[in-house]
Amino acid sequence: MSDCDHCHKELSEPRFYLDRNVQDFCYSNEGEFVNAQVLYSDSINYFCCAGCADASVSGILHLLGLKILPPTTNPVGICANCSGPVDMTVPHVAYSLMEATKVMKPWMTHLEVHQDEYLCVVCQNCDNQLMEAEWQVVDDDETGLLELISLRSKEIA
Ligand SMILES: [Zn+2]
Ligand SMILES: [Zn+2]
Repeated sequence: MSDCDHCHKELSEPRFYLDRNVQDFCYSNEGEFVNAQVLYSDSINYFCCAGCADASVSGILHLLGLKILPPTTNPVGICANCSGPVDMTVPHVAYSLMEATKVMKPWMTHLEVHQDEYLCVVCQNCDNQLMEAEWQVVDDDETGLLELISLRSKEIA
């Protein structure tokens, strides 16, 4: 497995993941925010502790041309790149910092998610890699399965 992307030590538990997610927001008939549905999740960086994550995350986002924005549950968000509107009700790219423990059981490995901190969202114009293929989980490979299970634990959490 990976080492910490900041201090290069082996990852401990819990570890931190910088995730690039494709998600959409669900609302009730009354227009109340229900939840953010994650369609696809990709961990782009790994950190051994909150200190390493804090030291690195804003720099990584900065390299991507993004800034950390306050979380919102509004149907229209603000793009971290161009400051334009993001339609949160359709699939869009969001970045988050997830704290999780890797639970190894003889029959499976899954991630127990403790916290998922919202960092920012990006509009469709600024992230044009948002392709349909992205949220098709390949079910015969192990990482796809691990992600699927991790998504399920996210929903429970
Ligand atoms: Zn570290
Ligand atoms: Zn944008």
